[in-house]
Amino acid sequence: MTKRKRTYNLRLIKATWPYSVREIAALYDVHKNLVLRWLKEGLQANRDKRPFLIRGSELIRFLSVRQQSRKRKCAVTEFFCFKCRAPREAYLGIADVVIESPSRFRLKALCAVCSTAVNKMQGIEKLQKIQNTFHVQQLVGQHILECNNLSVNSDLEAKNAQH
Ligand SMILES: [Zn+2]
Repeated sequence: MTKRKRTYNLRLIKATWPYSVREIAALYDVHKNLVLRWLKEGLQANRDKRPFLIRGSELIRFLSVRQQSRKRKCAVTEFFCFKCRAPREAYLGIADVVIESPSRFRLKALCAVCSTAVNKMQGIEKLQKIQNTFHVQQLVGQHILECNNLSVNSDLEAKNAQH
């Protein structure tokens, strides 16, 4: 099953209108679980009473940030800054690396333009490349502390051999 990322027509949304989850689902003909997932991913709702109401302007903001970040792919040295709403370089090229799992790490930095904290997840195979690209200030995470680069490499080879 392939999951095609859909682009939602933002013109269908009335900015001043409060929408319920059900209404948003009906507007785009999607399952309400998808809208509930958006709420978990940062779509803001007025939760004072049920059903939750989401302002049209907030729905536009949420979907446009998602759709922009998808369209404008960040280069290796760039992060998507949600304040600038654009790919940005890291401040002074400095980044922290947090190993979150044997296969993925999070790269944390500050936006070079507005100093907002930015981050992105990367596959562990990019770790070496990242260390050549950024001044890595901090390298933290259980996995990396337990093994040296050699075993990271051998993990990688094992992973590649599976494909
Ligand atoms: Zn920024």
